[in-house]
Amino acid sequence: MSPVTNVTKAHHRVLILGGGTGGIITANLLRRAGQTDVAIVEPSERHFYQPLWTLVGAGAVDRTTTVRSEARYVPKGVRWIRERVAEIFPDQRCVRTESGLEIGYDFLVVAVGAQLNWNAIPGLEEGIRKGNVSSNYDYDLAPRTWELLRNFRGGTALFHMPGTPIKCPGAPQKIMYLAADYFRRKGLAGKTRIIYGSATATIYGAREYGAVLDRVVERYGIDARFNHELIEIRAEKNEAVFRLKGDGENQTVTIPYDILHAVPPQSAPDFIRRSPLADPRKPAEGWVEVDKFTLRHPAYPEVFALGDVAGSPNAKTGAAASRQAPVLAVNVLAAIEGKPPQSAYDGYIACPIVTGYGRMLLCELDYSGKPSPRIPGIDTFRERYDMWLLKKYGLPWLYWNVLLRGRKPPFLGPGPAFVPEQPREELAAR
Ligand code: FAD
Repeated sequence: MSPVTNVTKAHHRVLILGGGTGGIITANLLRRAGQTDVAIVEPSERHFYQPLWTLVGAGAVDRTTTVRSEARYVPKGVRWIRERVAEIFPDQRCVRTESGLEIGYDFLVVAVGAQLNWNAIPGLEEGIRKGNVSSNYDYDLAPRTWELLRNFRGGTALFHMPGTPIKCPGAPQKIMYLAADYFRRKGLAGKTRIIYGSATATIYGAREYGAVLDRVVERYGIDARFNHELIEIRAEKNEAVFRLKGDGENQTVTIPYDILHAVPPQSAPDFIRRSPLADPRKPAEGWVEVDKFTLRHPAYPEVFALGDVAGSPNAKTGAAASRQAPVLAVNVLAAIEGKPPQSAYDGYIACPIVTGYGRMLLCELDYSGKPSPRIPGIDTFRERYDMWLLKKYGLPWLYWNVLLRGRKPPFLGPGPAFVPEQPREELAAR
């Protein structure tokens, strides 16, 4: 890592890296709380609502409904630096962008998401180029998944789940259930073999939801193969090579496929991974080390992280990022006033597992590892049609209009203190 050499060209009281889910919500919350010197570094002009990519891959929504202009969501009064961060120097409280701009900060919020390591599986990129491998983990590829499903006439449909932490760990199986439902409706079930090749040991971590999903797997006749780590795709032969974990350790198994939905292994972005902010206990993944409750870095108290890049032990989901943002904002505001953290993240995540067209199981967990249902009066321990409607229409609306704007959702339920808002007139006067 080369040292900081230039005189710092810019400086902000609070600097937010990444203007995705976590970054934009935090910026709006800090702005609403009256902070006047906040900047976001974000290279993309497009803001994506990634949770709908599952439904794009299943032909249930058009991909254009999942993207909006980033400019609409960067709050007024917050400086948007349209650059990509290349290096971070926490000892000097400074970052450097790819163009060489150096930006100093008093407080830093890291929200750059997860890096998709497409080349970590040899043959994955070639398979994608060849045409019968796809992935919902990319805006441009999700429609390809739908093309594969629509054109499938029977054979083996293989669905993959990698061994690294990934954003939305439920997504690899959601598209499999949708595909299974689609093939059944098209009368292809009899000539189709669906295989789930997963590096995990079970279908879902929490037993209560796992039991429901085991029944879904059985209903569709899916051949679920756990402890299978995908190590190579032989694109020219349409073969996927898995290394077995657990009992059959280090043996390999080759599975031929006609279509394959693959998920790239993930890590923190490289500039985080090689920085002093990365958790030294997991160097290959490199997530930002944070206290799991306060979201503050243990060695750099002016640094906070949230969302997929944070090393807190929750599933990486947009639900987690939006639940973490108010906690983080309260704690940044406290730090600005020289106070200790005032709010704690309880580990809440919501993972909406779509189990077919018109069916969804809402899995909600917190740090206890036990189900933590937050919607009053509804039995969320079964597949439901109303939850499908929530996924397809309700959550996207809530995301664009409430959460991203830094507003408190009506059913947040018991939880951490929300950010105190400044009166609008006071904000406007600044
Ligand atoms: P992101 O929203 O990904 O934002 C990261 C931002 O950082 C991006 O804007 C990026 O451009 C920017 N960035 C990256 N590198 C740099 C850099 N070097 N410098 C500056 N900026 C940078 N979540 C759910 O809760 N429910 C779901 O049903 C669900 N389904 C999903 C399905 C799929 C197929 C996928 C892909 C994701 C799904 N998610 C779901 C996960 C959810 O989208 C993420 O967890 C969420 O977006 C995380 O927010 P974030 O702010 O951490 O990262």
